[in-house]
Amino acid sequence: MTALRELIAEGRVGRRLWFYTNYHCNLACSYCLTSSSPRAPRRVLGAERIERLADEAVEAGFTCFGITGGEPLLNPWLPELATAVARRAPLVLLTNGTLFTRRLLDRVAPFADHPIEVQISLDSADPAENDAMRGPENHRKVVEAIPQLVARGVTVRVATTLDPDDASDLPRLCELHRSLGVDDHHHIVRPIVSRGRAVEHGYGLAAHQPELFPELTLTADGAFWSPFGATSRDGKSLDTELLLTRQIEPLHRPVDAFVAAVSGLPSGNDANLGIR
Ligand code: SF4
Repeated sequence: MTALRELIAEGRVGRRLWFYTNYHCNLACSYCLTSSSPRAPRRVLGAERIERLADEAVEAGFTCFGITGGEPLLNPWLPELATAVARRAPLVLLTNGTLFTRRLLDRVAPFADHPIEVQISLDSADPAENDAMRGPENHRKVVEAIPQLVARGVTVRVATTLDPDDASDLPRLCELHRSLGVDDHHHIVRPIVSRGRAVEHGYGLAAHQPELFPELTLTADGAFWSPFGATSRDGKSLDTELLLTRQIEPLHRPVDAFVAAVSGLPSGNDANLGIR
């Protein structure tokens, strides 16, 4: 795995290893790159498998983790898995932020004692505009959940996915996230990427291998070049364009495929879309 450590040290690949815990979601956002929905096949990776892979990942040279989906918090074991992973290395957990009942808030409160950042999607200061893309009541649930997490000492990041041609709402949105207790340093803005369901709606920027920074991503379907690669076509069949290997265990298999794919590129070949 020395080659991986070298590529990380040179900044040619990400130091973060991503896990897709599952593909189903309580929402069905119109631009969802994984075409997730309540009816999407679940394709759960499983807590034990993730912990096993996280151990191997630290040995291989990865220095932080990401967990995404689908909606990871639909898995009942997710809060405990997140703290277990974060004991190995810092973690960012992506969520739509709509499932935070009082009980779940209490279960994630221990995140405050671990290097965990909870990244919640919020696309507009205007509830109607936000909910048009993400579903009814999304805005209300998110703006209620964020201060509750912040009050428990949990670090929250707000992720805004925008039409790249219209950022006019951003100043109001920044005022909103600051008022919820999230500073500018924890606000991420990225364009809609034309993969998954976004393709069906004609949204977003084209994003293929040259545009996407390489960050190894593990799913129940296999290992991918980037978390933006683990998508589907027409909401049904797996998009294999950025698939590295079907085998994700032992970890050296996907790592070897990842290193070979990156090493085959000319050096200095930086991704031309700045999305992470
Ligand atoms: S964008 Fe996120 S919240 Fe929306 S359907 Fe996809 S996985 Fe769910």
